[in-house]
Order: sequence, then C-alpha cells, then structure tokens
Amino acid sequence: MSPSTITSGSDKRWWPQHCTWEITLECDLRCRHCGSRAGQARPRELDTAECLDVAAQLADMGTELVTLSGGEPTRRADWDEIARALVKRGVLTNMVTNGVYREGLPAHDVARRALDAGLCNVGISIDGPEPIHEAMRGRDTFRRTLAAIDAFNSVGMQVSVMTTVNRLNLPVLPETRQIAIDAGAATWRLQLAHPMGTMERHQDLVIRPRQLLDLLPMLVRLKNQGGIKLIISDSIGYHGPQDTELRNRTVGGRPVRWMGCQAGLRVVGIQADGGVKGCLSLQARWGDDDPFLEGNLREARLSEIWNRPGAFAFNRQQTTEGLTGACGDCRHAKACRGGAKCMAAAVGHVLTENPYCYQVVNDADTRRVRRAAVGAAAAAAMLALGGCGCSGPKTPPSSYDEPQNEPVTAPEYAAPAYDPDLVAEYAVQQPEPDVTDEYGVRPEPEPDVRAEYAVEL
Ligand code: SF4
Ligand code: SF4
Repeated sequence: MSPSTITSGSDKRWWPQHCTWEITLECDLRCRHCGSRAGQARPRELDTAECLDVAAQLADMGTELVTLSGGEPTRRADWDEIARALVKRGVLTNMVTNGVYREGLPAHDVARRALDAGLCNVGISIDGPEPIHEAMRGRDTFRRTLAAIDAFNSVGMQVSVMTTVNRLNLPVLPETRQIAIDAGAATWRLQLAHPMGTMERHQDLVIRPRQLLDLLPMLVRLKNQGGIKLIISDSIGYHGPQDTELRNRTVGGRPVRWMGCQAGLRVVGIQADGGVKGCLSLQARWGDDDPFLEGNLREARLSEIWNRPGAFAFNRQQTTEGLTGACGDCRHAKACRGGAKCMAAAVGHVLTENPYCYQVVNDADTRRVRRAAVGAAAAAAMLALGGCGCSGPKTPPSSYDEPQNEPVTAPEYAAPAYDPDLVAEYAVQQPEPDVTDEYGVRPEPEPDVRAEYAVEL
C-alpha cells in the first residue's frame, strides 16, 4: 500500500513507513546503556488479540517495515505469532533481540521460530570485545550472544550486529567490527549512546561531541575496508563531508544526505501498553507525563492517532526559523532540521538544536585553530620586535588579525586511548535492575527500507 491510500484529509507526505514496536518491556538483562530501562513488563501490556489487531492496522496504513523490539521480544510467548501476522500481510518484519535467552529457550529454537515466522533479519548487539561488552551488558553475555548469532546463521537467518558507541568502545571499534565479521554478520549498525534511560546515570560513558571528529573519519575508513556493510543510525551525523558516504542512501539513484528526524513523519513507535509516539527513542524527561505520547491504541485506531490535526506537532510543525543555537544559523538547516531529535532531547532537553553534530564541532574546532594561529603569529611578531613584547607596538599590524592566506584546517584529532582501568571499573559493577519506560531502536526514515536494512528480496 502506498502513502496515497492514507485516510482522506491526512497529509500524504506522512505515513508510518517504519514502525518500531516494543512488544514487551520485560528483559532478562539490565544493560547500562538501555534507553528504556527495560526489565519488567509494563503494566497492562497488549495481549495477543490486541497485538494481532495492531499488526493489521499497521499493514492497512502502508507500513513497510516493522522492527519488533523490547525489552527482549522473545520474553513474550507469542512474539513469532505477532511477527507472522505482519509478514502474512506483506510487512517486512525484523527483530532486535539480546541473544541471551532464558533457560529452556535454546537459541537454536528462537532462530528456527524466527525463520518460520518469516523475519527478514535480526539485530543483535555486540558492544566491543568481551570485557567491554560485559561491562555494558553483564557477565557471561558475550559468549552467549556469539552462540545466538551462530544459531541464527545456522538456520540461514541474516544477522545485523549492532554497536552502541560509547566512551569504552570508541577506541576499539575496529576490533568490534572484526568480531562482527568473524561472527558472520551481514551488517554492522552503529548508533551513539544517548544519555537517556539507564545511561542517564552513566553520562560519563557518553562520548563528547568533539569526539565525532574522530568517529566519523574512522567509520569511513572502516567502511572502506569492506567485509561487512556498515550502517550508521540517526544519531550519527550530520551533513559533514562523510555524511553521504556513510549514510549510503539514494533517492532516484542519487546519493542523499541526512534528511532530518522522521519521528511522526515516516516513523512511528508503539509501546507494549499501546502508547503511540513518533519514535520510541524520544524520552519523557520533563516529568511523569510523557509529552511524546500521542495516544493509546486501546482508545483509538492508529489511523486516528496518526491523522489527528495537531498530532506530532514537535516535528510536523518544526520550521527552520524555529531552530536555535548553531542549528538556527546552519546552512543545512532546511534539510537537516536540527539532527536527531532524540539526541537533542536527551542532551539538551530541547528539540531545536543538537550539539552532537559533526558540522558544529568541526566549525568550532576550525575557529579554535584559527584563534591559536592568530595567537601564535602575534607571539612570534612580538618576539621579533624585541622579546617580551613590552616594547612592541600597542596595536599589532592588521596582518596579525587573521592568517588569511594560509589554509586553516582542524588538527589531527588524537584517537582516544583504550582505558583498561575504566573498563575494569565498569566491569565490577553489575548493571542496575531498573524498570520504567521506553526503548529505542534507531529506525531509519528510508526511501528504501530494504536497502537500509540490507534485506534481500
Ligand atoms: S548544525 Fe544543526 S541543522 Fe546544521 S547540520 Fe548540524 S544538526 Fe543539522
Ligand atoms: S531515532 Fe531519533 S532522529 Fe531517528 S526518528 Fe527517532 S527521534 Fe528522530
């Protein structure tokens, strides 16, 4: 079904092309970077009949891809029944799973059921070599995760390894890529750790914006090495020199750059209790009432919620003029509209500017280098004029103001060093057993979701 079939009166530019559906918040792990603080099921999660109805509604609205997530989706006994209902209606369906299954649920059984249900692929996280992975996800998870990938591979199910970039694993991304290749993954998908959910209490593990100067060129190098398809999520960008190459998107055969957050435009998120949001990565950080909840599927049909006048206003009504900070002055603002709204919300509690932008940090770095060059030129001139500068001119010659003729480039950014002490510090603590809201799988507002997820048809 195409977007033109959307209910009459709705804006035909917008339809829920990609849905991330948290089918339960229950999870056996308590990962340090879990955006949802998953653990226990939400109160009153949708039952099987309600889920099957939601699957039908998504298909009727033209949804092309549904990502089943959690929590851990396999904690529900009916996860494959829900998947099958979507697949039967022609919806590409995949699943994000932690690969660490409870006793009595062998990984091979999960893999076989996923294949039988018709899932197009599964996403499983590897957050680095064993010590780093387990510092983030808990003890004895690395070996079991690799065994799960092996089980999916053995039944012929395509696996996408997912890595959440943080301060621990930034220095070892090349090794992490090799682990994904050795495990037989078809794609390696990277996203930034957001300071939200459980990670809100581990903000020291979130990389600093300036580290994008290291990350993005590194990702280009890793991508060009081949061996695995590298995909970056919405949180990594924007509009820097690497964007087209890393994002790997085309429209009409032409490469395109990041096209702005699609929450509520072409992306929808559904919570296990029927709550509907533009995207599950948008966190409620301003109190108990989640400002991003647009309605509940127990009270209204998805089409009503989606097409309600004023729905998803934070994004549908976002104008270039409404952007603030560096985004307000940015030459890419029209296309970019402030980068990832989830990151903006998590970092700055606003939706109108995003400090995690290559463009912003690179410009700041260039200005810093310019200032340093001006300072160095002034100091050299003072030395030439008599040492300490006390006898020099009060006002330096205008040529000191700016080294106009010299190319100004950012310095080589020193890659962060692997810090075994930091890893050990996190390895000795067990992740907290917290339970509340949200989960975020980075959905992609893709013109062609099949290419984005490397789905073979
Ligand atoms: S400054 Fe803002 S609008 Fe410009 S590219 Fe970066 S995130 Fe996008
Ligand atoms: S992941 Fe972030 S940028 Fe992407 S649609 Fe969701 S809120 Fe927007």
